Amino acid sequence: MRDLLTRTLVLLVAMVTIGTMLSNTTTNSSAMNMTTEDNPLLATWDGPYGGIPPFDRVQIPLFKPALEAAMSEQLAEIQKIANDPAPPDFENTIVALERSGRTLNRIGTVYGVWGSTMASPDYQAVQREMAPRLAGFQDQITQNEALFKRVETVYNSPAKAKLNAEQQRLTWLYYTNFVRAGAKLSADAKKRLSQINQQLAGLYTKFSQNVLAEETDQFLVLKSEDELAGLPQSLRDAAAAAAETKKQPGAWVIMNTRSSIDPFLTYADRRDLREKAWRMFVNRGDNGGEHDNNAIITEILQLRAERAKLLGYPTHAHWRLENSMAKTPEKAMELMEAVWKPSVARVHEEVADMQALANKEGAKITIEPWDYRFYMEKVRKAKYDLDQNEVKPYLQLEKLREGIFWVAGELFNFEFTPVTNVPVAHPDIRVWEVTDKTSKKHIGLWYFDPYARAGKRSGAWMNAYRTQERVNGNITTIVSNNANFVKGKPGEPVLISWDDASTMFHEFGHALHGLNSNVTYPSLSGTAVARDYVEFPSQLLEHWLSTPEVLQRFALHYQTGKPIPQELVDKIKRSSTFNQGFATVEYLSAALVDMKLHLAGDRKIDPDAFERETLTQLGMPKEIVMRHRTPQFLHIFSGDSYSAGYYSYLWSDVLTADAFGAFVEGKGPYDRAVAERLRKYVFSVGNTIDPAEGYRGFRGRDPKIEALMKKRGFAAKS
Ligand SMILES: [Zn+2]
Repeated sequence: MRDLLTRTLVLLVAMVTIGTMLSNTTTNSSAMNMTTEDNPLLATWDGPYGGIPPFDRVQIPLFKPALEAAMSEQLAEIQKIANDPAPPDFENTIVALERSGRTLNRIGTVYGVWGSTMASPDYQAVQREMAPRLAGFQDQITQNEALFKRVETVYNSPAKAKLNAEQQRLTWLYYTNFVRAGAKLSADAKKRLSQINQQLAGLYTKFSQNVLAEETDQFLVLKSEDELAGLPQSLRDAAAAAAETKKQPGAWVIMNTRSSIDPFLTYADRRDLREKAWRMFVNRGDNGGEHDNNAIITEILQLRAERAKLLGYPTHAHWRLENSMAKTPEKAMELMEAVWKPSVARVHEEVADMQALANKEGAKITIEPWDYRFYMEKVRKAKYDLDQNEVKPYLQLEKLREGIFWVAGELFNFEFTPVTNVPVAHPDIRVWEVTDKTSKKHIGLWYFDPYARAGKRSGAWMNAYRTQERVNGNITTIVSNNANFVKGKPGEPVLISWDDASTMFHEFGHALHGLNSNVTYPSLSGTAVARDYVEFPSQLLEHWLSTPEVLQRFALHYQTGKPIPQELVDKIKRSSTFNQGFATVEYLSAALVDMKLHLAGDRKIDPDAFERETLTQLGMPKEIVMRHRTPQFLHIFSGDSYSAGYYSYLWSDVLTADAFGAFVEGKGPYDRAVAERLRKYVFSVGNTIDPAEGYRGFRGRDPKIEALMKKRGFAAKS
């Protein structure tokens, strides 16, 4: 599963646009008087394409004063809206809020990019200080009574019926967000709520920094040929390069991140080293000492439970899911439970296959979690005659990038042109301009940051630096895709796995969701949709990787330039449901633990014991560990947005599998008419319509679960 960068800062913007006054104690007059000459981060973005982020002018000490000045500016804007003598209406309240906070929005974007990709120790110190203050700032906006009264008046006004559908939805969104953030609470309750939010913001920062520290400080050093046994050349090269950055001359280093650990577990012959690597990875944040996350989790869960009660919900999960597509935790649990049993049954079959193979080889072992990927690969070879290492030479990072561009051209008529007149945060980052193929009209910018480096969070994600909108003029979007590929030797192509290629298509799907956006109001733009809907466009895009059109043009051997042989493609196809037991159980166990942690209410939770007991109750196969164990579960403890929300990937995948059926039933993956419906009802509408309605517009009916079960190879049992 991949994630969309929780758009904390963009959400902050959305929340921040709902702003109000700041008390004098936090207003910093020197910050207010700061000029853009003192601090270039405060300047409007200049340059081409309607302005571009000033990544070349960032200095860490500029962040704090810039954020402070921008908060002050927004609070003044909010104050003006709240104190407007004119009776509240859509224009002077809702639209005025949409227009506010633009400086903070810009600075927050750059600040967020540094947080996820350039988090040096001095940056982390700023982050620790600013996270609670930014949270408190949001509360000052949502708790402004005069402002809320105006929003409420517009929401309840008969004049609302005369607004267009997008305007009515925006009004509903503002009203709902205010209420969900506690606008109707008593003064005392509001005060406590804000304390909780600030405390949580501090804990989220600490949690993330602890995981980053353990991913950075811990690594596995290999010193001899014997310890490298089984590793393909590409992995050895990457490990040698990693050894250089870790100052281990003459050795090889396996980093403590998924992109290094997973391939190691797949290929390393040395079982003892596999176990060592596996333990290092699954114990991130769970090692005692200064980076242990267990106590932090207990505190986060208690604060969340208290906050939910204050807001009038039985649990944090109920609060979080209210504005999702699923609506209730029960609905989400129902889906997870429907898929859980068949996937566990499949795991037992997979393990039996692996055990039989190990026995045949005379290995004299019982399959353990650190054996799963290793034997899975052997079974894949035996069953489907498919060797991942045979596929990899055809999967060149840059060719696949051309492939995703081509797909975007076929589906959405987009064209990508590299540009060099745009500053970037790091020399490895490249930028493309996106235009319409026919009209040549400018659509947006796409930044690509593919390589791992110190201070960059692991995984792959999409981020929006600027959302498309028309309230502040005709504003085009700026989006980015980020990954953690290990950079090859200069001049040599970076070869990636099939899974990684699939992830590229996924993240690009998020980018296309942003690039296709065609709405008026920024709060409703692009990927600002329900959490359990946002993975639908991205997961859908994954389907285009395996189309013959892409493979024949872009899956080219890095030495011969020849396309991947049809025979190999057929093998990939035949094995498409292989190992779905493992993938589903690994993911779903994490999603179930997430939901149960947030349904548990306010009792004090020991995360280790809770995880153990929950998995036992579920009948978790002992050969698999959760994809994200609780002490490193960044999705749910680095912020609120995916909390009680990790199920979203499965929820979205029901839509994805069902939606691809529309192409299959039509003229295939490049059916223009179906793609146009997809653009019209899904990719362009952002949050301007209810997602269920959008889906019906595209598909002509509600989604069915059968396609998902088929895609994963689970027999649909009645
Ligand atoms: Zn995603």
